[in-house]
Amino acid sequence: MKYKPANNIQDLQYFGEFGGINPSISDSSTYTFLSAKTMFDTFEGNAEGCYLYSRHSSPSNLYLGEALAAMEGTETATVAASGMGAITSTLLQLCQTGDHIVSSRTVYGGTYTFLKNFIPKFNINTSFVDITRPEMVEAAITKNTKVLYCETVSNPLLEVANLKVLAEIAKKHQLTFVVDNTFSPLSISPAKLGADVVIHSLTKFINGSSDTVGGVTCGSKEFVNSLRSVNDGANMLLGPTLDSFRAASILKNLRTLHIRMKQHSQNAMYLAQRFQKDNLKTVYPGLKNHPGHESFRALMNEDYGFGGLLTIDVGSLDKANELMELMQQENLGYLAVSLGFYKTLFSAPGSSTSSEIPVEEQEAMGLSNGLIRFSIGLDNDIERTYKRMKKCMQIVGVL
Ligand SMILES: *Cc1c(COP(=O)(O)O)cnc(C)c1O
Repeated sequence: MKYKPANNIQDLQYFGEFGGINPSISDSSTYTFLSAKTMFDTFEGNAEGCYLYSRHSSPSNLYLGEALAAMEGTETATVAASGMGAITSTLLQLCQTGDHIVSSRTVYGGTYTFLKNFIPKFNINTSFVDITRPEMVEAAITKNTKVLYCETVSNPLLEVANLKVLAEIAKKHQLTFVVDNTFSPLSISPAKLGADVVIHSLTKFINGSSDTVGGVTCGSKEFVNSLRSVNDGANMLLGPTLDSFRAASILKNLRTLHIRMKQHSQNAMYLAQRFQKDNLKTVYPGLKNHPGHESFRALMNEDYGFGGLLTIDVGSLDKANELMELMQQENLGYLAVSLGFYKTLFSAPGSSTSSEIPVEEQEAMGLSNGLIRFSIGLDNDIERTYKRMKKCMQIVGVL
C-alpha cells in the first residue's frame, strides 16, 4: 500500500485545554506532582504520562514530535532546538568512545565538520564515502562501525541516496542507519525504506517561514526514550531544548507542508527544465539525466515531486556573486543561506554553507566555485519568474 504521510498528519486530532482546536501551549518550565512518590518514579525513568521539567519534555514539544513521527511513520520522535541539536545528540547517543561512523561525504557543512573536527575528541572517527556507490560504503565498514549516516538528497550537490540498498547494508552489518531527510519531507519516507532514525532540520521546509531554527529525531520508542533519559540521554543532558511557543508555531506550519511541497517542487521542476534547455549546467533530481533520478522515482511518495532545491553552475564565483546580487536587486529572491522559504533563496555553497569542507575535498566531490544553490520559492507565476531570471542571466553574461 502507498504511504500517505500528509494524511497521517491531517488525521491527528487535538483538543486544547479549554476545548480549543489547537493544543494549549505549555507555558511552564516545571510541573507539579500530586504525590511525592510519583516524582521519585519519574526520576527512576517511569515517566509515562508525566511531565517533569521542560528540558525533558513538554506538552507542546510532545505534540510536535508526535505529528512528525506520524509523518515519518516512526513510533515516536523528540524535537530539538535546531537541526544540529538533533544530529549531534543522536550521534553522541549512538556512539561510544572507539566507535566508527560511515558517512556520506556530501552532507550539510555543519554535520561534516561535527564529524570531522568535533567528535574525534571522543575518539569517534568517521569515514566519508561516496554514498551512491554501495561497494564503497561496504568497504568502509570496520568492526567498530556503529552508524551509517546520509542525507536522502544531499546538500548541496543533490545526490540521491538509494535508501533501500543502504538499509540492507546497514542491516547486514548491524549498524544504525541514520538519515537526514531535511531536503525531502513528504516526498521520501526513509523509515518506510529501512532507516532506523530519521532526522530533520525543522528550520527549512517543515516550518517554512524562516522565523526559527528547530530539529527532530524520529525513531523507535526505545531509542527516543534513551535520548530523553535523565541518566544518560544526550537530549536531556546536552540540553538542545526547543521552546514550547516555537514548537506550537512549527506544528501549525507543518499542517500546510503538503501544499507547500507540491508548489516548491512544481516551481523547481519548471525552472530546472527551462534552465537545462537554455544549456545551463543544471542539477535537479527531477531531471531525467540526474544520476539519482531513477532511484528517487522508485522511492518517492509521488504527490510531492522532487523537491524545491536545484543548482546551476555559472563557471566562476565572481559570476555567481554578480548574478545573485542582480537577482536580489530585481526582487527574485534573497541572497541568503537556508531553504524552504516562500521566497527563493540562493547562495554559493562553496564559499558559504559548505565552506567548512576543504577546497580539495570540495573539488573531489564536484562542488565547484561557480555553483549556485537555489531553494525555489512558492511563486504563483513561475513563468514570469523564469523570464526575469533569464534576463538577469543575460545581463551578467552567463546566458
Ligand atoms: C540546515 C540543515 C541542517 C542543520 O539544521 P539547523 O536547524 O540549521 O541546525 C542539517 N541538515 C541539513 C540537510 C540542513 O539543510
